[in-house]
Amino acid sequence: MNKLLGEVDPQIVAIAAKDLTRQQDSLMLIPSENYASRAVMEIQGSILANKYAEGYPGERYYNGCQFMDEAESLAIERAKALFGVEHVNVQPHAGSQANMAVYHALLEPGDTILAMSLSHGGHLTHGDNVNFSGRYYNIAAYGVDAETERIDMEVVARLAAEHRPKLIVVGATAYPRHFDFAAWRQVADSVGAYLLADIAHIAGLIAGGVHPDPVPYCDVITTTTHKTLRGPRGAMIMCKAEYADKIDRAVFPGLQGGPFLHTIAARAVAFKEASEPDFKIYQAQTVKNAKVLAARLIENGFRLVSGGTDNHLMLMDLTSKYEKLSGRQAADHLEDAGIIVNKNTIPFDKRKPRTTSGIRLGTPMITTRGMKEPEMVLVANFITEALENRQKSAIKRQIRERVKDLCSQFPIYEYLK
Ligand SMILES: *Cc1c(COP(=O)(O)O)cnc(C)c1O
Repeated sequence: MNKLLGEVDPQIVAIAAKDLTRQQDSLMLIPSENYASRAVMEIQGSILANKYAEGYPGERYYNGCQFMDEAESLAIERAKALFGVEHVNVQPHAGSQANMAVYHALLEPGDTILAMSLSHGGHLTHGDNVNFSGRYYNIAAYGVDAETERIDMEVVARLAAEHRPKLIVVGATAYPRHFDFAAWRQVADSVGAYLLADIAHIAGLIAGGVHPDPVPYCDVITTTTHKTLRGPRGAMIMCKAEYADKIDRAVFPGLQGGPFLHTIAARAVAFKEASEPDFKIYQAQTVKNAKVLAARLIENGFRLVSGGTDNHLMLMDLTSKYEKLSGRQAADHLEDAGIIVNKNTIPFDKRKPRTTSGIRLGTPMITTRGMKEPEMVLVANFITEALENRQKSAIKRQIRERVKDLCSQFPIYEYLK
């Protein structure tokens, strides 16, 4: 029980060491990822993982939970203060479970949900037919306008009037523009629907004050804690006090058993970090970096969906420059050059989700490691050069070396080396 990990399992240590090198040496541009702090990771790998604590602070089904109560209560209080909400449940294991819990709390199977289609930027849990949400609920989907590639609120209002949803979901996993939550509230009110904001991607931006705030307008808000919020993997549900009991009962005992107190404690740490002034500066820089990266990619001849970005991510339409190059191939070529992105459908994509005509890029990770505007220009140029020379392995290898050099100026987790 007191042996070091390296003594017990050198094999797994070696695997983690390899990924540390990969995380250090690559430009990680997947917008849903981030580098959690050492503090967050320390408590996540702690003895708090050893306890069962089914229930909620003060009303557990297990004995010996007094310190678990303290940890969970601290996470809840900090989240409430950070977002200015009435009630928070910090137990969902992931964003998908958080959405599932909201549907379980507010809907019956067969009820209608109006949400963004996956192919236009929505999440699987927003009603995709391979997901439980598409199977158990009646889904009406909205997308973006073919011309502007932005959500058209008049169309959303029309769809709401036509389908009379019981719940409307506003939020996305690949939408580079702001959401006007006040307008969404109006649509929800026009049909008496609940309004859920799924801010999994933009929670950090909202906490940092660089994205419009959903709190005054939404009945319920779900978010992951590991994306722009830069905490441990996990999620939470925020809501008005009137839904508190329903939401809590939907998470436990509705869908989950014992909460993961080690990650809940790590969420508490992340919320503390997010309430400090540095975090606002970080989020503002993330958005500034995205704007510079987008502008330079456009200058280099790429088309971005909706013409740019207001947040931390952008969608690049590859067809505008290379008709034959799919998102999947582009992402693989970029990986050869040490640049990690993910393939993503673009609105009205002619290719399938496994191939796609786009890639999705984001700035949260490279901003966490300290990169600023001048580096964004370099990153855009690396991407351009790698795609231009995608058939030339030697050039891609050479770019990989230059990427590694740039990354070496922005070290991560030095204490781990
Ligand atoms: C990432 C994401 C989720 C789900 O998060 P998981 O933790 O991967 O289950 C839900 N909704 C949106 C909009 C997301 O981007």
